[in-house]
Amino acid sequence: MENKFPGKDITPEDLATKFPLAARKQSKLVTAGGITFDSRSVPVMAGPNMVESEQLIVETAIKVRESGAKFLRGGAFKPLTFPYRSDKYRESGLEGLKWLGTAKRESGLSVITEVMEERYLDTVCEVADILQIGARNMQNYPFIQAAARTGKPLMIKRHFGASLRDWFGAVEYALLEGNENIIMCERGVCVPHTHRATSRFMLDLQVIPAAKEITSLPVGTDPSHATFWAPWVEPMALASVACGADFLMIEVHPDPKNAAVDPLQPLNFEEFSALMRKVEALKSCICDGASGDSPD
Ligand code: PEP
Ligand code: MN
Repeated sequence: MENKFPGKDITPEDLATKFPLAARKQSKLVTAGGITFDSRSVPVMAGPNMVESEQLIVETAIKVRESGAKFLRGGAFKPLTFPYRSDKYRESGLEGLKWLGTAKRESGLSVITEVMEERYLDTVCEVADILQIGARNMQNYPFIQAAARTGKPLMIKRHFGASLRDWFGAVEYALLEGNENIIMCERGVCVPHTHRATSRFMLDLQVIPAAKEITSLPVGTDPSHATFWAPWVEPMALASVACGADFLMIEVHPDPKNAAVDPLQPLNFEEFSALMRKVEALKSCICDGASGDSPD
């Protein structure tokens, strides 16, 4: 059989037998929380890494909405790398979910938040418009199936060591449950540190066009987790839009240096607003004058 993607790890047999649903070209656009995902509108999800307090999440929601964000992000349940906790460094859990609900009501934004355990799916679904499957759960297939069966849109983050082929495998598990609203988020892969000891990951920009050769599902990026370094978030966000990203996830915090988690990576409100203006400008030149929420 002719290989449509010579030199790639994905073969035509894969498209037919391993992830036929993910590889299906469909014109129906994915929507979540009333928002359409595509490279013309490029909805932005913004907010803190962790839902630290009610005040923080409400304030952030209102500010990022004013700058044009469509979704509030923030983890009440967090896959923290180490098991130790302090007063500041502790997931807010069910209480944090309530605060997210308050921020949603007060800002009118839709909410995306991570869920890590099946037992919390129903509760998280009460608040979330999109369930975030974190990089670390990308290969937790029974969990992905259960999350997909809730019927909520899912964002499946790429594991930092996973190939595009493996990522499609995870997406296929969700699609096979009959959930069509799946979006894919690149968040940086592990490579030797060539730039800076703290740059834990490298944003794999070329996975955007690579994924789009195969799927019509939305593909976007999280440059905050990839770069781990606020000054690099804007260039990588703009580069993502230039590469065809269908959405962005950006960490924003009112006081980045005092963020409970990953204080090097969030933008402050002014930086976020400046980024949003550049995203709008870039979109309008890439999309030949089109912008806004109405894809044609
Ligand atoms: C997050 O977005 O809060 C997060 C933990 O991301 P990732 O799963 O990509 O590490
Ligand atoms: Mn993090």
